Amino acid sequence: MEDEIGKILIAESDIQDKVSELASAISRDYTEKQLLLVGILKGAFMFMADLCRAITVPVKFDFIAVSSYGSGTKSCGVVRILKDLDTDIQNMDVLLVEDIVDSGLTLNYLYRNLKVRHPASLEICALMRKPEGMRGAPEVKYLGFDIPSEFVVGYGLDFAEKYRNLKDIAVLRR
Ligand code: 5GP
Repeated sequence: MEDEIGKILIAESDIQDKVSELASAISRDYTEKQLLLVGILKGAFMFMADLCRAITVPVKFDFIAVSSYGSGTKSCGVVRILKDLDTDIQNMDVLLVEDIVDSGLTLNYLYRNLKVRHPASLEICALMRKPEGMRGAPEVKYLGFDIPSEFVVGYGLDFAEKYRNLKDIAVLRR
């Protein structure tokens, strides 16, 4: 397993510090609101689990699954919903929780798809962002880390479904 894992980019303790920071900002902004966290499966499941436990205001949950990169490391450029929300988000304050923004294609698609369902508000929280960001992609209101353009794994992020359980975020060695 170690053969494919390169250097640690973000250590567990730094992830946890950042999650607390983001959760404080979210708790402050969503007082008296109808906060619905929408986790983008599968990569955001671990971030979502830690984030929601650090949030101090009432919160509801849902998940949406979109087509992934398959077993490669490059996007095919097409986004498809594999599992839709269970919740009617009309009048909810929706916060989309994403693991990592690369081209921004996934977020762009999901943002537009959810916006037409008339939520009271729609914002984005992403743990990481790469520099390639598409022009015109929706703004990430709550951002953890800007990272270099490398393929990373761990803390929910996979390569061919492996390494999601790593506690740190590491670069995939290729
Ligand atoms: P985008 O649509 O922004 O190009 O890509 C977003 C999605 O691609 C993320 O939700 C994630 O599933 C996947 N992705 C992008 N970069 C990485 C990466 O470095 N590592 C992993 N494991 N997935 C990535």
